Amino acid sequence: MSVAAVEIAADPADVSGLVRHDWTREEVRALFALPFPELIFRAQAVHRRHFDPTEVQISTLLSIKTGGCPEDCAYCPQSVHYDTGVKPEKLMSVAAVVAEARAAKAAGASRFCMGAAWREPKDRDLDKVCAMVAGVKAIGLETCATLGMLTGSQAQRLSSAGLDYYNHNLDTSPEYYGAIITTRTYRDRLDTLAHVRDAGIHVCCGGIVGMGERAEDRVGMITTLATLPVHPESVPINMLVRVEGTPLATGEPIDPIDFVRTIAVARITMPKSVVRLSAGREDMREETQALCFLAGANSIFYGPKLLTTPNPERDHDLRLMDKLGLVPMR
Ligand code: SF4
Repeated sequence: MSVAAVEIAADPADVSGLVRHDWTREEVRALFALPFPELIFRAQAVHRRHFDPTEVQISTLLSIKTGGCPEDCAYCPQSVHYDTGVKPEKLMSVAAVVAEARAAKAAGASRFCMGAAWREPKDRDLDKVCAMVAGVKAIGLETCATLGMLTGSQAQRLSSAGLDYYNHNLDTSPEYYGAIITTRTYRDRLDTLAHVRDAGIHVCCGGIVGMGERAEDRVGMITTLATLPVHPESVPINMLVRVEGTPLATGEPIDPIDFVRTIAVARITMPKSVVRLSAGREDMREETQALCFLAGANSIFYGPKLLTTPNPERDHDLRLMDKLGLVPMR
């Protein structure tokens, strides 16, 4: 164990679950380096300070506008830069989205996320999205949207329509970011997050691991998230889904234990945030998912698809939750 890790191990405040925004890279690096049982123990201890460990928040994600995105995110099948076979589709109608939300609610979801493959929404598109938000809210679901970059006034409009959460991921560390996306900057992302926060919308922000990043990039990503002025209320940690046609299709998959470590460090450094075991579950063994829950993940996406990539079937999820004694968070 490193000296830094020993110091952290001796610090009883580390499992206090206190919310801090002054995490240093050294501290986060030392958490990643802890012996696995110690890391999981701490993540569980912190988790139990703020959450019932048997409860899992369930969200459903619907692609309301698919494909044709001008951005070049190297992992994304919806980018126009890559030939992935995703057919572009226009923005869905408000009625169709609300009907999908009703079905999601009946299937047990408490939050409905609407994703559109845009660099940023045009104002006329935003009118329609605001109507979707109001319609979904009216049937008693929490609302979330991911629409790309937002200006301050667009965020205010979504807030007035009743949007509860906005998803905008940092994706990776500031250092590795340029290897993944060139069409917008890390600063752009942080600015959108600030607009969302200023508009009074809850922030959903995390990243993707397994994109060929170094361990230090995972340290950098978690440190950036954990030192935001307010922690994201929701932190999705995605395992890369390698889609044929994208530049990341043939990379080495991440070791599942490294993935679980990332979840655990997110849990410890952002103790009150809901940590979402997000994309990549389709390729994950049940044992790995169980370890993720043990490491403090307490949210999943339900439904057979995550935007354009596969997700475990609902029945499979229900069986796994049942096996683990987990129940949907109310
Ligand atoms: S991740 Fe979003 S912004 Fe990037 S290419 Fe895909 S749809 Fe566009």
